[in-house]
Amino acid sequence: MKLQFLKGIGPKRLKLLEQMGMVTAEDLLMHFPRRYEDRSRIQKLAELQDGQAGTFLASVVNVTEQRTRTGLYILKAAIRDESAIATATWFNQPYIKAKLTADTVFLMTGKVRRQFGRLEIMIQDLEPADDKAEGNPGRILAVYPASAGLQQKVFRQAIAQILDAGCPLKEFHSPSFLEEQALTGREEALETLHRPATWEALDKARERLAFDEFYFLHLSLAAMRRKDFQEQGVSHIPNATLTDAWIKGLPFSLTAAQKRVIGEIREDMAKPHAMARLVQGDVGAGKTAVAAWALLLAAENDFQGAMMVPTEILAKQHYETLSSWFRPLGLRLGLFTGSLGQKEARLLRESLAAGEIQVAVGTHALIQEKIVYQRLGLIIIDEQHRFGVRQRALLQEKGDHPDVLIMSATPIPRSLALTVYGDLDISKLDEIPPGRKPVETICILEKAREKMHQFLRKELALGNQVFVVCPLIEDSEVLDMQNAEEIYERLTLTLKPFPVGLLHGRMSGAEKEAIMGAFAAGTIQVLVSTTVVEVGVDVPAATVMVVENSERFGLAQLHQLRGRVGRGDRQAYCILVTNTEDSLALRRLKMMTETNDGFKLAEEDLLLRGPGELFGARQHGLPEFRLAKLPEDMRLMERAREAAIRLMDADPDLRQPEHGETGRMIRERITEMVKG
Ligand code: ADP
Ligand code: MG
Repeated sequence: MKLQFLKGIGPKRLKLLEQMGMVTAEDLLMHFPRRYEDRSRIQKLAELQDGQAGTFLASVVNVTEQRTRTGLYILKAAIRDESAIATATWFNQPYIKAKLTADTVFLMTGKVRRQFGRLEIMIQDLEPADDKAEGNPGRILAVYPASAGLQQKVFRQAIAQILDAGCPLKEFHSPSFLEEQALTGREEALETLHRPATWEALDKARERLAFDEFYFLHLSLAAMRRKDFQEQGVSHIPNATLTDAWIKGLPFSLTAAQKRVIGEIREDMAKPHAMARLVQGDVGAGKTAVAAWALLLAAENDFQGAMMVPTEILAKQHYETLSSWFRPLGLRLGLFTGSLGQKEARLLRESLAAGEIQVAVGTHALIQEKIVYQRLGLIIIDEQHRFGVRQRALLQEKGDHPDVLIMSATPIPRSLALTVYGDLDISKLDEIPPGRKPVETICILEKAREKMHQFLRKELALGNQVFVVCPLIEDSEVLDMQNAEEIYERLTLTLKPFPVGLLHGRMSGAEKEAIMGAFAAGTIQVLVSTTVVEVGVDVPAATVMVVENSERFGLAQLHQLRGRVGRGDRQAYCILVTNTEDSLALRRLKMMTETNDGFKLAEEDLLLRGPGELFGARQHGLPEFRLAKLPEDMRLMERAREAAIRLMDADPDLRQPEHGETGRMIRERITEMVKG
């Protein structure tokens, strides 16, 4: 059905719909309601409760407009029903005014405030009550994400016409599958989602469609993985020339967990198809050493290895660690970052293409088009959640199905790990090298700041170093920086004469490096920074991590920050500064003081704040669900995953006739994912 044939959709609205990404009837059906309104619960104005949302019928008595000095536009209408009068308010929506005709009864929904005997309602939704063209005969009304010119009525009417003509989105599961999974049919689910008869039916409809979201995600992941598998990969056979020499030369012996994980990697890499393995290990568990072993195994087999990390600072640090280990073994390494000079970059690229460089370490610079490897056999991605699926694919394509090793310090439940990282085998590095004292964590309120300064001076006098991390404020790099600058200035004064440095995201790579270098060398003793230090920086003399406005961080993030200190043999401290009175936030911070177990913290975070938060604001690669919600729908996801795996086992290429539509959708989806 073409949208322009629908009643109520003229050229102008057609265009507006297109701007919202809707071109077909199917698109409109997939435009899911934002919320629902319960028309069975219409109240009288006099019954509305302070602080709650309410729906009522009222007519408009008069309208006034005003503009505040800050430019806010406020529209107020005196409204009434037979029980009371009230003030209805809208902010910054001047177009509402024209709708507020006298002699019309409106159905309104809004947030209620009762104060000094006055009733004021901030209106969220408004429409003429006697509107016969209403899309839903039932009492639960869908409310859509709308835009100027596309009112609720437009969506309701258009979608009703499409559904009345027969839902164009057909069922693709078999009847037996639906029965086994106790799922509502697709047409019925879509009908209910847009025109629910009851709240129970709505739950079932939502469940069905959320199931599909998970199901397709897992089918795509499995199919992607299978694609990698089918084709020949690289076989790395241990011949011990480099790996053994390196292990012998290490100043420490590998932990049992490191040995176990290396064993798992050895087995994978020996196989003639591509490895896809995730190593999960808490901060400080020694993931770099595991990565080093894999890189050496590739080098033993005359393959190149590439290690990609999210920040320049981290790239440099890994480059230095690996250089100190690999140079004595006669290997050549290259550091690829965005801040290389042109000539330098060209020379490095040439050496890489000629195969003279065996190990490339770098940032996104490693996936630039110009970069060519002679024989790329292994790629390692550190802190993968900072990268998207697409970036990983780009690096992979630089070789002929290279082995892939992903490392992460974010300990997340397996089921969720699969949605974030794809269908990978998982190794757990669940042991911290011996001799390290756990970091002592305390949470302090703003007013204890002076005491904290005394403590810091004591530590600094011992030659120890301090990190001070300031959070992201409102997603603005500028504010972010100002906040960090203020703290930097304050500490420069209060901690005199100890040298304080500042690091923030606005600095150039070279500036950051200079500051980090000075901190690593100890000429700067206190480093104030925005969250740039979050991943991986290793400064053994750093014993104190101060986190400002710590309530703004996720627990997993705080745990990672805490992992930046205590890398040497001195007792380390983490001080979480906060001003919050929010009990949930305080509970989260308290948890930090009670446990050093990253896995436990991550699970708590997942429960309290959902998966997006687990990775911090900048996380990539977490799929966007339109209906599914994690962690609430975790069980549903498990079910969908199992079903997806069963299907892939039974019909790997999805070529059987009854899987035709599913197969088509999956192929489309994979193309999209890889394109990013
Ligand atoms: P992460 O897992 O957080 O990346 P790193 O690889 O940076 O941890 O290791 C943290 C520190 O522990 C490094 O200084 C590293 O040299 C050291 N280390 C790694 N493995 C061991 C071990 N088996 N015994 C002692 N120290 C180790
Ligand atoms: Mg690391």
